[in-house]
Amino acid sequence: MFYLQESFHYQGIQDFVVTSKKDEIMSIVVFGSINIDLVTYSQKLPRPGETLHGERYSIGLGGKGCNQAAAVARLGGEVQLVGRIGADDFGQSATTLLKENGVPTDHITTDPKADTGLAVIGVENSGENCITVIGGANMAVNGDDVKQNSDLFAKADLLLLQMEIHLEPAMMAMDLVRKGGGKVIFDPAPAPREGLPQEILEQIDIITPNETETEILTGIYPETEKEASMAAKVLLDQGVQSVIVKMGAKGACYCTTDETVFIPAYHVKAIDTVAAGDCFNGGLAYALSHGWEMVEAVRFASACGALSTTRAGASSSAPTLDQTMQLLESDR
Ligand code: ADP
Repeated sequence: MFYLQESFHYQGIQDFVVTSKKDEIMSIVVFGSINIDLVTYSQKLPRPGETLHGERYSIGLGGKGCNQAAAVARLGGEVQLVGRIGADDFGQSATTLLKENGVPTDHITTDPKADTGLAVIGVENSGENCITVIGGANMAVNGDDVKQNSDLFAKADLLLLQMEIHLEPAMMAMDLVRKGGGKVIFDPAPAPREGLPQEILEQIDIITPNETETEILTGIYPETEKEASMAAKVLLDQGVQSVIVKMGAKGACYCTTDETVFIPAYHVKAIDTVAAGDCFNGGLAYALSHGWEMVEAVRFASACGALSTTRAGASSSAPTLDQTMQLLESDR
C-alpha cells in the first residue's frame, strides 16, 4: 500500500476526483510481455522479394505488459512489472527504456537461453502496416516467475494480465492475487480462437476486450451499445464479474449484471492507435488504485486511450496525469 500523493488533488475538479476512503493507494502489478518494437517507415511496404529504401526507423518499448506498466508509471503511479527479457542488447535497451518511463525492473528476469521479445513493424505512408512478432523470452515465462515473485502477487491489490505470455503462469498469478484479496483486470489480447477456459473466466474481476476480441470470445461484433451489452452478457454468464468492451473511436461500454454504462470516446486527432487499449487499461488501474468509482475510472481510462492515439509509438504514447486531467476537464 502507498499513501495518497498530494499531487493527485487538482484545484477545481475535487468534485470529480473520488479518492480512496482509506487514503491509501492500492498496489498494481503487471505480469506480461516485454518487447522491443523496431519500426521502419517507408513510402510503400515492400512486396515479397522486394528491397526498398525506407525513410527512417525508431526503436521503442512494446509488448502489452510493458505498455500497460508504462501507462501506469507515466501517470505517476507505482507499478511493478513481472516478465522476462533475453541476455542481449535488446534486453538492455528494454531495461533502460522501462526505467526512463518510471517502471522498476527488479522483478524482470534475464533469461540466458532466450532472445528478448521483438516486434518488427513496417509502416507505409498510407498508415498501412505489417508486423512480425517474435515472442522470445515472453514465451519462456513460466511458473518459476510466479514462484519467485509470490510475495509480490500475494500482496497485490490489482493485477493486470494480457495474453502475450502462456496462460498457465498467468493463472497461477491470478490465483495468488485473488487469494490475497486483490482484483484481476484481464485483457484478452490477442484473443484465443478456442475461447478462454471457464476456470479463468471465473477469476476475472474486469475483462477488457476490444471489438475484435469481443467477437472472438462471444460471437458478437459490438458496433453499438446494445451489441456491446449483449456480448458482455455472454461473458458475465460465463462467470466474469464485469466487462468493459473497448470500441475504438466509438468509446467503451461498461457492463455488470446490474448496469450498462456507455462512455463515448473523447474527440481527439488520432494519428496512431497502437497501444490505445494498453493505455486505457493502465489508466483504468491507475484510477481504481486511487479509489475512483468504476464509471469515473472508465472515463479516465478512455481519456488515456484517446490521448495515446494522438502520438506515435506504443509505451511512449501513454499520457501524463496533467494531460489526462486536462482532457477530462475540457469535456465537462
Ligand atoms: P485496442 O487498442 O485494444 O484495440 P481500442 O482501439 O478500442 O483498443 O482503444 C481503447 C480505448 O481508447 C477506446 O475504448 C477509446 O476509449 C479510446 N480510443 C481508441 N481510439 C480512439 C480514437 N480514435 N479517438 C478517441 N478515443 C479512442
